[in-house]
Amino acid sequence: MATLEMEGPYIFTSSEIDRVVTITSPGNYALGYTKDDGTFIVRYVGRSDGDVNRELKARLTNKYSKFKYSYATSPKAAFEKECHNYHDFGGSALDNQMHPSRPAGSNWKCPVCDIFD
Ligand SMILES: [Zn+2]
Repeated sequence: MATLEMEGPYIFTSSEIDRVVTITSPGNYALGYTKDDGTFIVRYVGRSDGDVNRELKARLTNKYSKFKYSYATSPKAAFEKECHNYHDFGGSALDNQMHPSRPAGSNWKCPVCDIFD
């Protein structure tokens, strides 16, 4: 079974983001909600190349009630994890409109589907 390998879920509010995401770091996140039995349902996956706290706050919306996050050791690690999360949790069935994009100027490839060949 696919796992996000992230901390959470936490309530998706600015104050909660500041409470738990305390390091300025590249990272990954998932947005969604929890079912009555506590299962976290992933609806959107994303990453930040430099500050996952700021990226989460830029995504604040009433559409999602919970988030999970993890820090990444590098922007490339964040990109590759985002790709795995995207494919593991439904690809185009997620609210993500497109496959994760690599940073401008990089030639990194998706480790799952090689979409950028
Ligand atoms: Zn891919």
